[in-house]
Amino acid sequence: MRICLDSVKKTYQAGSGRIDAVRNVSLVVPSDTVYGIIGKSGAGKSTLMRLISLLEKPDSGSVLYDGVRVDNLDKKSLIERRRRIGMIFQNFNLFSSRTAGENIAYPLEIVGRSKHEIKKRTAELLELVGLEGREKAPVSTLSGGQKQRVAIARAMAIEPEIMLFDEPTSSLDPELVKYVLGVIRRLADCRQTMIVVTHEMKFAQEVSDRVVFMDGGRILEEGSPDEIFERPRHGRVREFLDLVRKD
Ligand code: ADP
Repeated sequence: MRICLDSVKKTYQAGSGRIDAVRNVSLVVPSDTVYGIIGKSGAGKSTLMRLISLLEKPDSGSVLYDGVRVDNLDKKSLIERRRRIGMIFQNFNLFSSRTAGENIAYPLEIVGRSKHEIKKRTAELLELVGLEGREKAPVSTLSGGQKQRVAIARAMAIEPEIMLFDEPTSSLDPELVKYVLGVIRRLADCRQTMIVVTHEMKFAQEVSDRVVFMDGGRILEEGSPDEIFERPRHGRVREFLDLVRKD
Protein backbone atom coordinates (compact mmCIF):
# COMPACT_ATOMS: atom_id res chain seq x y z
CA MET A 1 0.00 0.00 0.00
CA ARG A 2 1.25 3.47 -0.88
CA ILE A 3 1.12 5.98 1.96
CA CYS A 4 1.11 9.69 1.30
CA LEU A 5 1.28 12.45 3.89
CA ASP A 6 0.56 15.93 2.62
CA SER A 7 1.62 18.87 4.83
CA VAL A 8 0.55 17.09 8.00
CA LYS A 9 0.60 19.01 11.29
CA LYS A 10 -0.08 17.95 14.87
CA THR A 11 0.09 20.25 17.88
CA TYR A 12 -0.46 19.24 21.48
CA GLN A 13 -1.57 21.45 24.29
CA ALA A 14 0.66 20.76 27.28
CA GLY A 15 -0.08 22.82 30.37
CA SER A 16 0.08 26.44 29.28
CA GLY A 17 2.26 25.78 26.21
CA ARG A 18 1.84 24.31 22.76
CA ILE A 19 4.02 21.58 21.38
CA ASP A 20 4.31 21.34 17.61
CA ALA A 21 5.00 17.62 17.57
CA VAL A 22 4.72 17.30 13.77
CA ARG A 23 5.10 20.40 11.57
CA ASN A 24 4.19 20.33 7.92
CA VAL A 25 5.43 16.86 7.10
CA SER A 26 5.03 15.57 3.55
CA LEU A 27 6.16 12.06 2.76
CA VAL A 28 5.42 9.33 0.23
CA VAL A 29 6.04 5.70 1.13
CA PRO A 30 5.54 3.58 -2.00
CA SER A 31 4.28 -0.02 -1.87
CA ASP A 32 6.80 -2.76 -1.22
CA THR A 33 9.37 -0.46 0.32
CA VAL A 34 10.86 -0.25 3.78
CA TYR A 35 11.23 3.19 5.33
CA GLY A 36 13.41 3.72 8.37
CA ILE A 37 12.71 6.71 10.60
CA ILE A 38 15.45 7.95 12.89
CA GLY A 39 16.00 10.99 15.08
CA LYS A 40 16.40 12.14 18.66
CA SER A 41 13.82 11.50 21.35
CA GLY A 42 11.05 14.11 21.06
CA ALA A 43 11.63 14.63 17.31
CA GLY A 44 8.03 13.64 16.51
CA LYS A 45 8.59 10.09 15.24
CA SER A 46 5.89 8.39 17.35
CA THR A 47 3.39 11.14 16.62
CA LEU A 48 4.05 10.69 12.92
CA MET A 49 3.45 6.95 13.27
CA ARG A 50 0.16 7.56 15.08
CA LEU A 51 -0.92 9.91 12.29
CA ILE A 52 0.00 7.33 9.64
CA SER A 53 -1.84 4.56 11.49
CA LEU A 54 -4.91 6.79 11.99
CA LEU A 55 -4.67 6.59 15.78
CA GLU A 56 -4.57 10.39 15.69
CA LYS A 57 -6.07 12.94 13.35
CA PRO A 58 -3.84 15.70 11.97
CA ASP A 59 -4.78 19.31 12.82
CA SER A 60 -4.22 20.10 9.17
CA GLY A 61 -2.96 18.35 6.07
CA SER A 62 -4.05 14.95 4.84
CA VAL A 63 -3.17 11.26 4.96
CA LEU A 64 -3.83 9.15 1.85
CA TYR A 65 -3.74 5.39 1.40
CA ASP A 66 -3.39 4.41 -2.25
CA GLY A 67 -4.53 7.88 -3.25
CA VAL A 68 -7.64 7.85 -1.06
CA ARG A 69 -7.93 10.33 1.81
CA VAL A 70 -8.29 8.46 5.10
CA ASP A 71 -7.69 10.99 7.91
CA ASN A 72 -11.27 12.27 7.78
CA LEU A 73 -13.16 8.94 7.80
CA ASP A 74 -16.08 8.37 10.17
CA LYS A 75 -15.43 6.13 13.16
CA LYS A 76 -16.76 2.92 11.61
CA SER A 77 -14.76 3.28 8.38
CA LEU A 78 -11.72 4.25 10.41
CA ILE A 79 -11.85 1.04 12.44
CA GLU A 80 -12.33 -0.95 9.24
CA ARG A 81 -9.37 0.77 7.57
CA ARG A 82 -7.13 0.37 10.60
CA ARG A 83 -7.71 -3.37 10.56
CA ARG A 84 -5.51 -3.65 7.49
CA ILE A 85 -2.54 -2.04 9.23
CA GLY A 86 -0.18 -3.92 11.51
CA MET A 87 1.22 -1.80 14.31
CA ILE A 88 3.96 -2.90 16.67
CA PHE A 89 4.81 -0.83 19.75
CA GLN A 90 7.55 -1.00 22.34
CA ASN A 91 5.35 -2.61 24.96
CA PHE A 92 3.89 -5.54 22.93
CA ASN A 93 0.19 -4.90 23.82
CA LEU A 94 -0.57 -8.62 24.05
CA PHE A 95 -3.47 -10.18 25.95
CA SER A 96 -1.66 -11.44 29.01
CA SER A 97 -4.40 -13.92 29.93
CA ARG A 98 -4.13 -15.69 26.56
CA THR A 99 -1.54 -18.10 25.19
CA ALA A 100 0.78 -17.18 22.33
CA GLY A 101 -1.46 -19.06 19.88
CA GLU A 102 -4.64 -17.45 21.22
CA ASN A 103 -3.12 -13.99 20.80
CA ILE A 104 -2.28 -14.71 17.18
CA ALA A 105 -5.70 -16.26 16.59
CA TYR A 106 -7.56 -13.21 17.92
CA PRO A 107 -7.64 -11.06 14.74
CA LEU A 108 -8.57 -14.14 12.71
CA GLU A 109 -11.50 -14.87 15.07
CA ILE A 110 -12.69 -11.29 14.63
CA VAL A 111 -12.86 -11.63 10.86
CA GLY A 112 -14.69 -14.95 11.22
CA ARG A 113 -12.13 -17.46 9.91
CA SER A 114 -12.91 -21.15 10.50
CA LYS A 115 -11.31 -23.02 13.41
CA HIS A 116 -9.36 -25.21 11.01
CA GLU A 117 -8.03 -22.21 9.12
CA ILE A 118 -7.10 -20.40 12.33
CA LYS A 119 -5.12 -23.39 13.58
CA LYS A 120 -3.22 -23.73 10.31
CA ARG A 121 -2.48 -20.01 10.00
CA THR A 122 -1.42 -19.72 13.66
CA ALA A 123 1.11 -22.52 13.17
CA GLU A 124 2.47 -20.84 10.01
CA LEU A 125 2.79 -17.50 11.78
CA LEU A 126 4.56 -19.00 14.78
CA GLU A 127 7.03 -20.55 12.36
CA LEU A 128 7.50 -17.20 10.60
CA VAL A 129 8.65 -15.62 13.85
CA GLY A 130 10.74 -18.60 14.95
CA LEU A 131 8.40 -19.77 17.73
CA GLU A 132 7.16 -23.01 16.22
CA GLY A 133 5.55 -25.30 18.76
CA ARG A 134 5.04 -22.53 21.33
CA GLU A 135 1.33 -22.15 20.57
CA LYS A 136 0.20 -23.20 24.05
CA ALA A 137 2.73 -21.10 25.95
CA PRO A 138 1.04 -18.59 28.27
CA VAL A 139 2.21 -15.08 27.38
CA SER A 140 3.40 -14.57 30.96
CA THR A 141 6.04 -17.29 30.48
CA LEU A 142 7.60 -15.68 27.41
CA SER A 143 10.64 -13.40 27.32
CA GLY A 144 10.29 -9.82 26.04
CA GLY A 145 11.75 -10.80 22.69
CA GLN A 146 9.37 -13.74 22.37
CA LYS A 147 6.43 -11.52 23.31
CA GLN A 148 7.42 -9.05 20.60
CA ARG A 149 7.64 -11.86 18.07
CA VAL A 150 4.14 -13.03 19.06
CA ALA A 151 2.95 -9.43 18.59
CA ILE A 152 4.50 -9.40 15.10
CA ALA A 153 2.86 -12.74 14.25
CA ARG A 154 -0.49 -11.41 15.46
CA ALA A 155 -0.14 -8.28 13.34
CA MET A 156 0.82 -10.38 10.30
CA ALA A 157 -2.21 -12.67 10.77
CA ILE A 158 -4.49 -10.40 8.81
CA GLU A 159 -1.97 -9.95 5.99
CA PRO A 160 -1.56 -6.24 6.61
CA GLU A 161 -1.05 -3.86 3.73
CA ILE A 162 1.58 -2.12 5.77
CA MET A 163 3.46 -2.88 8.99
CA LEU A 164 4.39 -0.01 11.27
CA PHE A 165 7.03 -0.55 13.94
CA ASP A 166 7.55 2.05 16.64
CA GLU A 167 10.83 1.26 18.40
CA PRO A 168 10.08 -2.47 18.49
CA THR A 169 13.27 -3.40 20.35
CA SER A 170 13.83 -0.55 22.76
CA SER A 171 12.37 -2.33 25.78
CA LEU A 172 14.28 -5.55 25.15
CA ASP A 173 17.45 -6.90 26.68
CA PRO A 174 20.32 -6.58 24.17
CA GLU A 175 20.64 -10.32 23.60
CA LEU A 176 16.96 -10.57 22.60
CA VAL A 177 17.08 -7.66 20.16
CA LYS A 178 18.72 -9.65 17.39
CA TYR A 179 15.90 -12.22 17.18
CA VAL A 180 13.25 -9.53 16.80
CA LEU A 181 15.35 -7.66 14.23
CA GLY A 182 15.84 -10.98 12.43
CA VAL A 183 12.07 -11.39 12.10
CA ILE A 184 11.64 -7.84 10.79
CA ARG A 185 14.49 -8.42 8.34
CA ARG A 186 12.72 -11.53 7.06
CA LEU A 187 9.53 -9.51 6.47
CA ALA A 188 11.60 -6.92 4.59
CA ASP A 189 13.05 -9.69 2.42
CA CYS A 190 9.45 -10.67 1.53
CA ARG A 191 8.82 -7.08 0.31
CA GLN A 192 6.33 -6.32 3.08
CA THR A 193 5.68 -2.56 3.04
CA MET A 194 7.00 -1.25 6.35
CA ILE A 195 7.84 1.87 8.27
CA VAL A 196 10.24 1.29 11.14
CA VAL A 197 11.12 3.82 13.83
CA THR A 198 14.30 2.53 15.40
CA HIS A 199 17.36 3.41 17.46
CA GLU A 200 19.24 0.50 15.90
CA MET A 201 21.24 2.41 13.33
CA LYS A 202 23.04 -0.53 11.75
CA PHE A 203 19.72 -2.28 11.33
CA ALA A 204 18.06 0.83 9.85
CA GLN A 205 20.91 1.17 7.37
CA GLU A 206 20.75 -2.45 6.35
CA VAL A 207 16.99 -3.03 6.15
CA SER A 208 15.65 0.30 4.79
CA ASP A 209 15.18 1.28 1.17
CA ARG A 210 14.87 4.90 2.30
CA VAL A 211 15.68 6.63 5.56
CA VAL A 212 14.06 9.72 7.07
CA PHE A 213 15.74 11.84 9.73
CA MET A 214 13.28 13.77 11.88
CA ASP A 215 14.20 16.80 13.93
CA GLY A 216 11.92 19.16 15.85
CA GLY A 217 8.74 17.81 14.21
CA ARG A 218 10.11 18.11 10.67
CA ILE A 219 11.75 15.84 8.17
CA LEU A 220 15.20 17.36 8.01
CA GLU A 221 16.64 14.89 5.55
CA GLU A 222 15.44 11.93 3.49
CA GLY A 223 17.63 9.71 1.38
CA SER A 224 19.00 6.28 0.63
CA PRO A 225 20.63 4.52 3.62
CA ASP A 226 24.05 5.33 2.18
CA GLU A 227 23.21 9.00 1.74
CA ILE A 228 21.91 9.35 5.30
CA PHE A 229 24.44 7.20 7.12
CA GLU A 230 27.57 7.71 5.04
CA ARG A 231 27.25 11.24 3.63
CA PRO A 232 24.50 13.19 5.40
CA ARG A 233 24.00 16.72 4.12
CA HIS A 234 22.93 18.27 7.42
CA GLY A 235 25.21 18.87 10.36
CA ARG A 236 22.42 17.82 12.73
CA VAL A 237 22.24 14.37 11.14
CA ARG A 238 26.01 13.99 11.45
CA GLU A 239 25.89 15.10 15.09
CA PHE A 240 23.12 12.62 15.86
CA LEU A 241 24.93 9.75 14.17
CA ASP A 242 28.21 10.56 15.93
CA LEU A 243 26.37 10.53 19.23
CA VAL A 244 24.52 7.23 18.77
CA ARG A 245 27.54 5.52 17.23
CA LYS A 246 29.55 6.31 20.37
CA ASP A 247 27.11 4.30 22.54
P1 ADP B 1 9.62 10.81 19.42
O1 ADP B 1 8.82 9.62 19.06
O2 ADP B 1 10.54 11.24 18.30
O3 ADP B 1 10.37 10.66 20.71
P2 ADP B 1 7.07 12.07 20.01
O4 ADP B 1 6.27 12.03 18.75
O5 ADP B 1 6.78 11.06 21.04
O6 ADP B 1 8.64 12.05 19.61
O7 ADP B 1 6.92 13.51 20.68
C1 ADP B 1 7.10 14.74 19.98
C2 ADP B 1 6.78 15.88 20.93
O8 ADP B 1 5.39 15.89 21.20
C3 ADP B 1 7.47 15.76 22.28
O9 ADP B 1 7.80 17.05 22.72
C4 ADP B 1 6.41 15.12 23.16
O10 ADP B 1 6.57 15.50 24.50
C5 ADP B 1 5.14 15.72 22.58
N1 ADP B 1 3.94 14.85 22.71
C6 ADP B 1 3.78 13.63 22.13
N2 ADP B 1 2.58 13.11 22.43
C7 ADP B 1 1.96 14.02 23.24
C8 ADP B 1 0.69 14.08 23.89
N3 ADP B 1 -0.20 13.08 23.77
N4 ADP B 1 0.41 15.18 24.63
C9 ADP B 1 1.30 16.19 24.76
N5 ADP B 1 2.51 16.20 24.17
C10 ADP B 1 2.85 15.14 23.41
